[in-house]
This record gives sequence, C-alpha cells and structure tokens, in this order.
Amino acid sequence: MIKVYIGLGSNLDDPQSQLKKAIIAMEMVPSTSVAKTSSFYRSKPVGPQDQPNYVNAVVELDTELSASVLLDYLQAIENDQGRERKVKWGARTLDLDILLFGDEIINDDRLQIPHVEMQNRGFVLLPLNEIFSDCIIPGVGSVSSLLQQDNADDLIKLT
Ligand code: ATP
Ligand code: CA
Ligand code: CA
Repeated sequence: MIKVYIGLGSNLDDPQSQLKKAIIAMEMVPSTSVAKTSSFYRSKPVGPQDQPNYVNAVVELDTELSASVLLDYLQAIENDQGRERKVKWGARTLDLDILLFGDEIINDDRLQIPHVEMQNRGFVLLPLNEIFSDCIIPGVGSVSSLLQQDNADDLIKLT
C-alpha cells in the first residue's frame, strides 16, 4: 500500500460540490481508499486572472495502483465532471494532481512527481500541512518550512 497525496481544485459549477463529488469518486477507484481529507480553502487563480477564485483541498489516498494507472482514473474522474482543456491554467470544473506518490520520484512524458509546482503554491502547501505536518517533499524540503516562506495569507479556510 502506498500513501499518495492528491491536490484538488475547482472554480466552476459549484466548486465545493465538485470537490466533494471527486472525493466520493476517488473512494470508488479500485484498490484505493481515501484516508484523510483537508479543509477546503478559497484561493486566487494562478495564471489568467479573469476567472473565478478556486476552492482547493488535499486528500491522502492509500493505493495499490501504479502512479500511471492512478492518473488514468483521476483523469477519468475529471472528464466525468466536465473538465475541458482549453486555456493553460484556465477555469475548470475539476483538477486532480498527484502531488506525492510515496517517496517516489517520477519524471516521464506523462508524470512528474513530486508535482513540479507544489512547493510554490500556498493552496497546496497549507492543506497538505494540515493533514501531513511532517511532510518532506523528496528533493525539495519540508512543507512546514516552505509554508513559512510562502505567502498563504490570502487563503480563506471554508470548512
Ligand atoms: P499544473 O500542472 O501547473 O497544476 P494543470 O493542472 O492545469 O497545471 P493539466 O492540464 O491538468 O495541468 O495537466 C496537464 C498534464 O500534466 C496531464 O495530461 C498529465 O499528463 C501531466 N502531469 C504531469 N505530472 C502530473 C502530476 N503529478 N499529476 C497530474 N498530472 C500530471
Ligand atoms: Ca494543477
Ligand atoms: Ca492537473
């Protein structure tokens, strides 16, 4: 069983419901269970600013799947919830990123793990720190120290 951390984000079609629905869908993924769920946080968009604010969270999964097969399931959940890919970092109903996959480092065409931007994003670090306060990002450093440097001030805790 491998511990996996997923970053969730949505800024369209009732974002909080999108995240709740996605968490239920992740429970249905074979050989996988949801172990922990962070609070939900409201955050400002990355990239284009002419889009609604986001709701973000992080969940911990236990899985026996490979990272690649897990990504297939996560992308199917995104598609089921109406994800469209038009503009880079544009508005979306659901984004599911694999942040960490055990202590594995993966760099192939389809997957970079740890997620390459996670250490720069307060909307990832704050919810991750909430459910995994001892987290070390392989090759990067501890989430708690990154959070101190990071400006997570503008995040609003929703739940
Ligand atoms: P960002 O990666 O900066 O958060 P994004 O989430 O908007 O941007 P997407 O359009 O959702 O990007 O994904 C583009 C591609 O990223 C996916 O097709 C997938 O193959 C690839 N990818 C690479 N590493 C990961 C990862 N750790 N988790 C999810 N997808 C990843
Ligand atoms: Ca993302
Ligand atoms: Ca993504």
